[in-house]
Amino acid sequence: MKVYERTENGIATQVSVKDGLEEINNAMMAGKREVRTMSSISRTDYAIEYKDGRKITLVQIDAPEESVDEDSSPWTVASHRMLLHKFTEASADGRAVCNKSFRPWRYGNGYDFATRAEHEASQYADLYAFCPRCESK
Ligand SMILES: [Zn+2]
Repeated sequence: MKVYERTENGIATQVSVKDGLEEINNAMMAGKREVRTMSSISRTDYAIEYKDGRKITLVQIDAPEESVDEDSSPWTVASHRMLLHKFTEASADGRAVCNKSFRPWRYGNGYDFATRAEHEASQYADLYAFCPRCESK
């Protein structure tokens, strides 16, 4: 995903492409009278100097990677309790991260592995808790 790095008088912030384009379009069109100079750096990037002295550059960059890395580990219950453990793999061979002797619970229709986010989104989320020992591993 792209964002604009908007530098105003040396201070860089990131704005959405939509907001960046809005400022560029405004400087070309409706807000033209407030602009002293405007030059294109590339097809998408512009430098704008406003009559009030603000110097802006808008440069498209790749948005930084999401810092929240979602836990894709499989979680399920180990016994017929409501405590979800994180498993080493999403199969009968999986072992709970907190205790290697814990095996995934097999329901009548098979195993019910899901990521943490999926469990949290489930309609039964309120019934379950995440094992704190698995969580800290
Ligand atoms: Zn656990």
